[in-house]
Amino acid sequence: MTEELPPDLPATSLLHSDSQSRRGAVVAPIVQATTFSAATSEEFLDMATKSFSDEFYVRYGNPNHTQVAEVVAALEGAERAIVMASGMGAVSTLALSLLEVGDHIVLQRSLYPGTSTLATDVLARFGVTADVVGQDSLDELRSTIRPSTRLVFVESPSNPHLGITDLRAWAEVVHDAGALLVVDNTVATPINQRPLERGADMVWHSATKYLSGHSDVSAGVVAGSNDLMQQIWRTHLTLGSVLGPFDAWLLLRGLRTLDVRMTRHNENGLAVARFLSDHPDVERVYYPGLVSHPQHELAARQMSGFSGLVSFVPRGGPARADRVLDALRLVPRAASLGSVHSLANRPAAMWSNRPPDQVREPVDDALIRLSLGIEAKEDLIADLAQALQV
Ligand SMILES: *Cc1c(COP(=O)(O)O)cnc(C)c1O
Repeated sequence: MTEELPPDLPATSLLHSDSQSRRGAVVAPIVQATTFSAATSEEFLDMATKSFSDEFYVRYGNPNHTQVAEVVAALEGAERAIVMASGMGAVSTLALSLLEVGDHIVLQRSLYPGTSTLATDVLARFGVTADVVGQDSLDELRSTIRPSTRLVFVESPSNPHLGITDLRAWAEVVHDAGALLVVDNTVATPINQRPLERGADMVWHSATKYLSGHSDVSAGVVAGSNDLMQQIWRTHLTLGSVLGPFDAWLLLRGLRTLDVRMTRHNENGLAVARFLSDHPDVERVYYPGLVSHPQHELAARQMSGFSGLVSFVPRGGPARADRVLDALRLVPRAASLGSVHSLANRPAAMWSNRPPDQVREPVDDALIRLSLGIEAKEDLIADLAQALQV
């Protein structure tokens, strides 16, 4: 009798869960071919009709897609994952695969602006109605969800306030109503949080952020049960948010170090959040790892680390916030997050064309969002200390 090995921990499965599909190559070759030949008509028919075919035509999938998808599925504890060309490509494909006219959806108020805009500007034109509820209000969720609700979209931690959604509690309410819970796990990553284990039905990512990790790839991924991924894959073939093979290869290369990168991002996030909350010139700090965060207990229950996003409001309003940003030497002003390089911005300036506030949570004009990279925390703290002297 062979002894069952325990399932690999994330640090190991990041390196090994694609070993079969690499077929012996330690580093998989980049398969640039858009089309594959068949030796016989029977084989051609099989290639053209089987699900998740990765050696037929590139829009259906390619070996580099399969390798990344296997690694992400293993990390999220999902039966299957599908990679796409961006995070928005992933969530749009998910929504357009599963929704139809007359369906109702529920959105957490503090979603990524692209996700709320997908609902208000695109899905609304196809007869899908949406309601928005607060991230910390189960009562609001209970009174908003209805029999026609098909999908509920949440994101935890949210951006830029790092609010926490109680995934297990939301999943219960969502399932009682016969709907599905969809979680944007971009900010936490599966190293810090595994939503499917807490009852979520699907997880999606902007793999442009932590999963690839180096600000050099645009990619997205959706993960969940075989049944749901089958439905999404069918529509994905038509919508065509296809990840380039080289970008899939880069994403896989980035993923290999996700566990060690997140350890450092988590460490830097906590150290900088503590430094800022002790600083006399800082009005407010948002970081779920701080005991002073209003949902710290919940965050500590459902996450094993708190990531590298820290938001804070310096005293003196938006003009002073801009001076602080200008004075930073190691942290450039840039959109995006989750890179090995630290990045900072003032979201109110970035999202000036945001949808009205009944859809989006209002953001303090002076709030600065830091995405802490993997630099030495002492250097990041010293840089912030000198910038806060302006
Ligand atoms: C960036 C981001 C997205 C969108 O992903 P893209 O790869 O830019 O399309 C979605 N959700 C979150 C939380 C993000 O940070």
